[in-house]
Parts: sequence; C-alpha cells; structure tokens
Amino acid sequence: MSFDFQLYIDGQFEPGAATFGSVDPSTGQVWAQMPEARTGEVNRAVAAASRALGEAAWSGLTASARGKLLYKLADLLEKAAPRLAEIETRDTGKIIRETSSQIAYVAEYYRYYAGIADKIEGSHVPVDKPDMQVWLDRQPVGVVAAIVPWNSQLFLSAVKLGPALAAGCTVVLKASEEAPGPLLEFARLVHEAGFPAGVVNVITGFGPECGAVLSGHPDVDKVAFTGGPDTARHIVRNTANNLAKVSLELGGKSPFIVFADTDIQSAVNAQVAAIFAASGQSCVAGSRLLIEASVKDQFLALLVERVSRIRVGAPGEMETEYGPLCTERQRRLIQSVVESSVRQGAKVLAGGKAIERAGYYYAPTILDCTGVANADSITTELFGPVLSVDTFTTEQEAIDKANSTAYGLAAGIFTTNLTRAHRVSKRVQSGIVWINTYRAVSPLVPFGGFGLSGHGREGGFAAALEYTTTKSVWLRTSDEPISDPFVMR
Ligand code: NAD
Repeated sequence: MSFDFQLYIDGQFEPGAATFGSVDPSTGQVWAQMPEARTGEVNRAVAAASRALGEAAWSGLTASARGKLLYKLADLLEKAAPRLAEIETRDTGKIIRETSSQIAYVAEYYRYYAGIADKIEGSHVPVDKPDMQVWLDRQPVGVVAAIVPWNSQLFLSAVKLGPALAAGCTVVLKASEEAPGPLLEFARLVHEAGFPAGVVNVITGFGPECGAVLSGHPDVDKVAFTGGPDTARHIVRNTANNLAKVSLELGGKSPFIVFADTDIQSAVNAQVAAIFAASGQSCVAGSRLLIEASVKDQFLALLVERVSRIRVGAPGEMETEYGPLCTERQRRLIQSVVESSVRQGAKVLAGGKAIERAGYYYAPTILDCTGVANADSITTELFGPVLSVDTFTTEQEAIDKANSTAYGLAAGIFTTNLTRAHRVSKRVQSGIVWINTYRAVSPLVPFGGFGLSGHGREGGFAAALEYTTTKSVWLRTSDEPISDPFVMR
C-alpha cells in the first residue's frame, strides 16, 4: 500500500506549510509524513467553506440532492473501509478487528443523515394576530469547524459531518495531529463523491497553530468538538470573540455497576469489553467497577482469569485482541497514576506496568481501590486500560458512588431486577445508560454527556437540528395601509 497524505482545501489536495512524522504506536517508529496546516491553511479552508456556503453550487442544491451526495459518500466509505482500517490501525495502534468493523458501520451514519437531509422541515405558527401569517424556516448554521481527537476519528467525524451536511452547512474538519492519516485519506472519498469545492475541507495540525486558529476564526459559526476537557476550555475561550455555537463531547469516568443478582460471567465479559477494548482508549470506558460486596471475590476471580487470557499482539493481526496505546505520553501518565494510586493504598490485581515489547504497550490493569475512595485512578480520566474496583452494599450506595464524579458520559448497570434497573438508570447522572450491555451505539440514538463530559448530543434526528438555526418569517396579510406608526401589533 502506498500513501500520499495531503490537506484538502477548496476541492484541491495540497502539501501544507510543513510536514511532521506520524508514529506507528506498535513500533514507536515514524511510518508516514503528514502535512501540517498553520494559520494560512486554516484561513484558506475557512474562506473556502464560507464561499461554498454562499455559492449556488451548494446552497442551490435541494435537500434531496445533498442527501444523495451523502448516500454516495456512504457507499464509497463502505468500499474503502478495509484500506481506511489499515491506515487507522497503523496510525493509532488500534487493533484491526475493531477498526475494520467500526469503519464499515460508520457508513450507516452517513446513510442515516442522508435520509434526514430532506426531512428537516420548518413549521407554521398559528399566531395570535388575525392578519399575520408566521412560519419558521430552518436554515443552516453556517461554517462548522469539526475538531476531533485521534481515536475513532471516522466515527467522531461522521456524527458531525453527517448532520452538518444534511442541514446545508459547510465544514472544516480538523484531524488530530496524533494520527491524521485516516481522515486525510477520507478526504479522497469526499472528493470522489462530488461535493462542490469548499463544502468539506480536511486539515490537520497542532493545537496552538491550527486548532486554536480554527476555533477562534471570526467566520466560523459553530465548533463541534470532541476531545479532552482542558482543550474544551481553550475552545470555549477561543469562541468568545465571535460567540460561535459550541458542542462539546468530552471524557468520562464511567461507572460499571454490578448487582449480585446478575449473570456474573456475562457481566465479567462485558466489563472486559468496557475497559480493555481499544486498550481502554475510549471516552465511554467503564473504568470504575462498582461491585456488590457479596459477589466481589467471585467476580474478580473470573475477571482476573479472563484478563490473563487477553491476546496481546501486533494490532494489524486479526487474532490480536489488545494493542498498544496511541502515544508514549499517555503511557507515562497511566504509569504515574497507577503508581500514585498504589501509594494511596490501591492493590494491583492485574497488570500495573508496561508490557516489555517494542511500542507503547501497557498491561490490562485492575486496581482494587476498596476503602481508597479518592485514589487517583478513580478521580482521573486515564483514557487507558486501568480498571478501579470499589464495592457497595446497598442500591443507594451504588448510586452515590456512581455519581461521585465530575464527569457523566456513560454508565453500565448489570441486574436482572427490572424495577431496580429502572430506578438506578433514572438516578445515575450520565448521558448514556447501558443496562446488561455496554458500548452499544447506533446512528439513531443520541450520544453525549452531563457535567464535565460536555454538552450537546450527537447521533439521532435532533443532532441535525443542532446544525440549523430558526428564522421566524412574518407576513402581514391585510391590504389596509399601516395607519399608526407608533403602535405596532
Ligand atoms: P485533545 O483534547 O488533546 O485533542 C482533541 C483535538 O483538539 C485535536 O485535534 C487537537 O489538535 C485539538 N486541539 C488541541 N489544542 C487545541 C486548542 N487550543 N484549540 C483547538 N483545538 C485544539 O484530545 P485527545 O487526547 O486527542 O483525545 C482524548 C480525549 O478525547 C479524552 O478525554 C477522551 O475521553 C475524549 N473523547 C471523547 C469522546 C466523546 O464522544 N465524548 C470520544 C472520543 C474521545
């Protein structure tokens, strides 16, 4: 496979202001050169998106025609999924099993929003004035800056591009500097699908020189951001001047609550998926196990045994279940938080150290934090393969512990007691609750969090409306002249 990664601005591929090396996390070696966008490229991308918004080539297209372009993009994406998966695995270290199935499914997101394009309707208001007709028109918000992190980036960009394009917006998509390969390759599909120049621009670059310039650009009308809370704070400050609309999908410290009445083996398997899939680098990772005290020993024995059988290996091999972390920086952070948690009293039940092989591997780690409620591993989002265990004896204690976090993205509840499932799901503070399952997603279902996990929802019909703004149109139907200029009705 040969690669030529370029920026995609105004319908043209170009090399960028400079290049930087992208590292294969399974070897620690640079595997490709990536083009870097700086102020000049960002400005040209935003200018192209602004122009495209006003040009007949895009705004003159009917909503159905926009939908057809999205269907075409979905088909191209499905066909290109194996190549994109190979690039994503190379660039991020995520195992090929996951990247290939996830990217193929991303096509469904574009299809879902393709179908929505001509269903974004306005409405008529039965206004309380007899000689007035009022209708509400839904118009595109304008130029959207979509800023995404390195993980699940085709998915995280689809939940922004799909609704934005369906609504008639134009987009500058910024890929993470950690692993921009998959999105730069995706730009080729946008081009092939035949979107008019400037409607979708794909760039990459570093936070200060690219992301900050983009999110603070005066001609950007909405920033749709996924990433960490610290970056989100920069984005909110960056948008203060032009007061752009902002949606934030941030991190989590999601509780995984297991009641004694559940099918324990099934819950153990779900817990493995919740925290060790993608080597824990998932915003919805179920990183806090809250286990009913009476089944703690049984659950942990099965869990530790299952974890010992996880197949660690090269991410490009289909049988590998567990690959490296994306960056060495991430591995260092995880190691230091595991060490400080142990000093605070947590006990290592599995892992607790790097795996000795080339690349950025870190062992699947289980820390028993019972009695160490403020262990660093419980309070810090690690975005890695570290599970912190705590116990509860009553339903109320489970809810209190689940909610003792500033985040609120996801929660898992494992119980066969239907009434309890209802009660607990209502009281857990999180945007997503999975009962007897974990990590399930669909284009039809909103996704997003409470608290430090952000605001705004992606996925589902309402997300498309987030890319529109309402225009209220008043029509006076009387032929009588307006008589008194000082009394308006
Ligand atoms: P990050 O916040 O470091 O980077 C995300 C993006 O923001 C990158 O493209 C980066 O270049 C850009 N950026 C950096 N500084 C910027 C600035 N000053 N202005 C504008 N943009 C800037 O995130 P990361 O480390 O790549 O990803 C991990 C984080 O993302 C975790 O916290 C994880 O939980 C979160 N995440 C959330 C979701 C979700 O849907 N809720 C999904 C995946 C990841």
